Amino acid sequence: MSRIAYVNGRYLPHGDAGVSVDDRGFQFADGVYEVCEVRGGKLVDERRHMARLQRSLDLLRMDRPMSVASLAIVMRETIRRNRVSDGVVYVQVTRGEMRRDFPFPPAGTPPTLVVTARTNNLARIEAQAEAGIAVITVPDDRWRHVDIKSVSLLPNVLAKQTARDKGAREAWLVDAQGRVTEGASSTAWIVTREGVLVTRPLAGDILPGITRSVLIDLVKAQGLRFEERPFTVEEAYAAREAFVTSASQSIMPVVEIDGRPVGNRAPGTAASALRRDYHSKAEFT
Ligand code: PMP
Repeated sequence: MSRIAYVNGRYLPHGDAGVSVDDRGFQFADGVYEVCEVRGGKLVDERRHMARLQRSLDLLRMDRPMSVASLAIVMRETIRRNRVSDGVVYVQVTRGEMRRDFPFPPAGTPPTLVVTARTNNLARIEAQAEAGIAVITVPDDRWRHVDIKSVSLLPNVLAKQTARDKGAREAWLVDAQGRVTEGASSTAWIVTREGVLVTRPLAGDILPGITRSVLIDLVKAQGLRFEERPFTVEEAYAAREAFVTSASQSIMPVVEIDGRPVGNRAPGTAASALRRDYHSKAEFT
């Protein structure tokens, strides 16, 4: 079955789908995106993802391509046409098409909207969660507006490839003070030896992860010990547990950092329990 993409009003096989060579997304990475999990054919935490999309658009002074209600319909239709039950739906908006020039296009230039969906191999992700993943650390050399979910992801791409080259699944980005900011495509967490869950606060230098926000609600509801503060790489090496969160994999235990075992190199009990409970706190629509 060929995959179907929504592009500016049409549903097309991926092979026939495309945007202009003059698209601002292609020319300047002048675009934003969202990735929302699909479970049992339902969207997970759609409201929070749509709120973050609006925030990204506002901060970059980009027009909405369509109303929230219309986008909700397009996302569902894309999921349906691709027969996705468990997977992700991807939404990308760019500042539209214009002869290559740096300033914004004239007012009224329609944004480009692309929506795609794909099935996740749940068994593979589950096996990964049972084994845990390895991460490596690299300097965080991104621009200063990483709280915006923009498609300017070149440093993330390079960090992720460095991880893969070293046999790891994820790269943890480290600030000038030696503290972990976040993963190349995930939020970073540790559980200290005292059993305190720690993740970096939202201060403009990480993406406000939706999985992070739902998990914080869950952690608070369960009365677990939790601190929002930066943690160093050294602290992560010495942690009892570590894990990452993102929409596509919810909670993924980390069992190795820079080749050193975390705990006894097995997924931690806190991470595994939170992974089991996560979807009880998530919103399905
Ligand atoms: N940080 C970065 C840099 C990311 O790319 C992602 C994944 N989109 C996350 C964190 C996790 O965010 P979310 O939980 O909303 O998927």
